[in-house]
Amino acid sequence: MFHNFSPQNRCIPVLLLALLTACSDSATEYSSHLLIFGTVVDIKLRGVGERRATEAVAAVDEDFQKMHRDWHAWKPGELTKLNRSLPAGEPHSVSAFLLPLITQSQQLFEQSDGLFNPAIGKLIALWGFHSDDLPSGPPPPSEAIAKLVAQVPRMDDLEINGNQVRSNNPAVDLDFGGFAKGYALNIAIDRLREFGVDNAIINAGGDLCVSGRHGDRPWRVGVRHPQGQGLIALVDTLDGECVLTSGNYERYREHAGVRYPHILDPRDGLPVRHIASATVIDKDGGAADAAATALTVAGPKDWYPIAKQMKLKYVMLVDEDGTVYMNPAMAARMDFQDHEPERIVVSDPL
Ligand code: ADP
Ligand code: MG
Repeated sequence: MFHNFSPQNRCIPVLLLALLTACSDSATEYSSHLLIFGTVVDIKLRGVGERRATEAVAAVDEDFQKMHRDWHAWKPGELTKLNRSLPAGEPHSVSAFLLPLITQSQQLFEQSDGLFNPAIGKLIALWGFHSDDLPSGPPPPSEAIAKLVAQVPRMDDLEINGNQVRSNNPAVDLDFGGFAKGYALNIAIDRLREFGVDNAIINAGGDLCVSGRHGDRPWRVGVRHPQGQGLIALVDTLDGECVLTSGNYERYREHAGVRYPHILDPRDGLPVRHIASATVIDKDGGAADAAATALTVAGPKDWYPIAKQMKLKYVMLVDEDGTVYMNPAMAARMDFQDHEPERIVVSDPL
C-alpha cells in the first residue's frame, strides 16, 4: 500500500480560522494505491484527515484481499471449493459473502438473455484464461468446445435454498471475472462511507466508482479507450455512480496472427469476434460490470434490446473502426475533448 498525503489548500490567510479549517478539510486530497485483482487500484479521498483516511483505506484493502481469496475463479478459495462440489449435484453451503454474487448474477443472466453467463467457467478455463499469464498456442479443439456448449451451463441451473447451493447441471462452473470487480468497487465505496468518507473515487484500471464530489465540482473521470491506449472521453460522475468498461482487446490468446479475446459468446463457446468495448454508467457497479460484458458480446448491432432489458440508463459501445454507439442520455454526458470520433451513432432513448 502506498500513501501520498497531498494537501492542496489554496486558502488565503486572511480568512477566519473556522473557514480555514473547513477549507483545508475539503481541499485536502488523500491518495493511495493498492495492488489487487491483478491491477493497481487507485483511491482518492477528500474531506477527511489523514488518520481517518488511512484507517478507511486499510479496511478497504482488507475487504479486497478477502474478495480476491474467496471469489477467485481458479486460485484455491471458497469459489473453487464450491465449483468442485457442483458436478456432484449435492447441496453445498455458501457463505453470506459469496451468496449475493450468485443470486445477483442469476438475475443479470436472465436480464441479459444469457449473454452475461458466469456459469461458463469450464469454457473460460478451456480457452486458457484461468491463468495470470496470457495463454498461447492454437485454440482448444472444436469438439471440446462443442461438448461444453452442448451441456448448456446456465445460471438458472443453480438451485438456492437458504445458504445451500446445488446444480442441476454438472457443467456449471462459476467465474465472476465479468462481474466481481464492479461489485467489489461498490462495496468499497460503502466501506469508505462507514468511515465517514463521503467524497472518494476508487479506480481499478479504468473501472471505477465514486462518492460525493471533488471539492466544488463533480469527480471528472476518464473512459477507457477500446484499443487499450489511454482515454476516449471524460465524464462528470454523480454521487454513487460507477463507470465500467469491458473490452475484448486487452486479454487475449494469440496464435498464427489471430487474436482470441477473453470474452466468450456463451451461445457458441467462441471468443467474441467483433472488436468492441462497452461502457456502462450505473449506481450498481456489479450490474454495470455484467452489463458491459453482456453488451460486448451483443456488439454494436445487437446491444440496444439487451441494454433496454437490463434497464440501463447510460451505455456506450465502440467498434474497431472507432465508431461510437450511445443512447442519447449517454451522448449528453460524454466529453470527447479534442478527439471527437469520426462517427457517432445515437440510438433511440433507452
Ligand atoms: P474486462 O476484463 O475488460 O473488465 P469483463 O468485465 O468483460 O472485461 O470481464 C471478462 C471476464 O469475464 C473474462 O476474463 C471471464 O472471466 C469472464 N467472462 C468471459 N465471457 C463471459 C460471459 N459471456 N459472461 C460472463 N462472464 C464472462
Ligand atoms: Mg464486465
